[in-house]
Amino acid sequence: MRTQPTCTKCHERSSVYHRTYSGERLCPTCFKVSLKERVQGAINRFDMLDHWSRVAIGVSGGKDSLTLLHILKGIEEGTHGSELIAVTVDEGIKGYRDEASGIVERSCREMGVEWVSVNFTDLFGYTMDEIAASERTLGACSFCGVLRRRALNEAAKSVDADRLATGHTLDDMAQSALLNLLRGDVGKMTSLDPGGYTSPGFVRRIKPLCEVPERETTLYAYLQGFELQSTTCPYAGEAMRGDTRAFLNDMEARRPGTLFTTYNTALKLIPEAKKADAMKTCKTCGEPSVGDTCRVCQLLENRRR
Ligand code: SF4
Ligand code: ZN
Ligand code: ZN
Repeated sequence: MRTQPTCTKCHERSSVYHRTYSGERLCPTCFKVSLKERVQGAINRFDMLDHWSRVAIGVSGGKDSLTLLHILKGIEEGTHGSELIAVTVDEGIKGYRDEASGIVERSCREMGVEWVSVNFTDLFGYTMDEIAASERTLGACSFCGVLRRRALNEAAKSVDADRLATGHTLDDMAQSALLNLLRGDVGKMTSLDPGGYTSPGFVRRIKPLCEVPERETTLYAYLQGFELQSTTCPYAGEAMRGDTRAFLNDMEARRPGTLFTTYNTALKLIPEAKKADAMKTCKTCGEPSVGDTCRVCQLLENRRR
């Protein structure tokens, strides 16, 4: 019978995970410790938190955001002493979001974290199901992404947070970087800054999982025994992101390290993108905007026509 190789960190326990991009083989304990250290390292390097920050964490109920919540809870109890509040956006997607909200509520209760939820109907007057059912030129995810971003900012402001942490993984960062290039939208690279930046009207967004591959949040969630969602969003297949994800996953399997290289390239482009991305104030809603009218008002205005 084949025995599992020993963990390359502790040299004691059997490994359960082969980290192809570094060559390490890790046991469950060393794997979880290494993930926490990776997140702590990113927080320090990008100066994400001050002592006593009030951090809103966007928690959707998926493995990434639950992993983020659990790791930040551990880190904050140990060192920073920041206050954590989980915030969830209910887009109004029947079946999908109802299940996720239940998971978030139970997880927050177990971890002892305060939880607030905001919804599309209160903020924008429509559910995502209503928007998806109507005539639209854009894919559902393009709409949803813009509105979710605004909703999370509103939720963070409503709890007086000075940081908004999101569960974007290394895969998300690499996919967004490539999507921005494919769409010729280099200015959008600014939103990939893992440490975020302060801008009037915006709660500073931080991405503590920016260097954690998605397969590692999956393993962390499995090892922790998190309750996970069984349904997927009915509109998920519409996004161009799916093609980009498939391409990058294929490249990563054949050339381990591709995700990190793509992400690191985006980091190099951020300073240039920032120079070109001066913020204005939306003339309709008064929120921060790249142009005279923000994306939220453009999308909702097109819908009303
Ligand atoms: Fe919104 Fe698309 Fe995500 Fe569904 S898959 S929640 S529509 S962004
Ligand atoms: Zn070990
Ligand atoms: Zn606006």
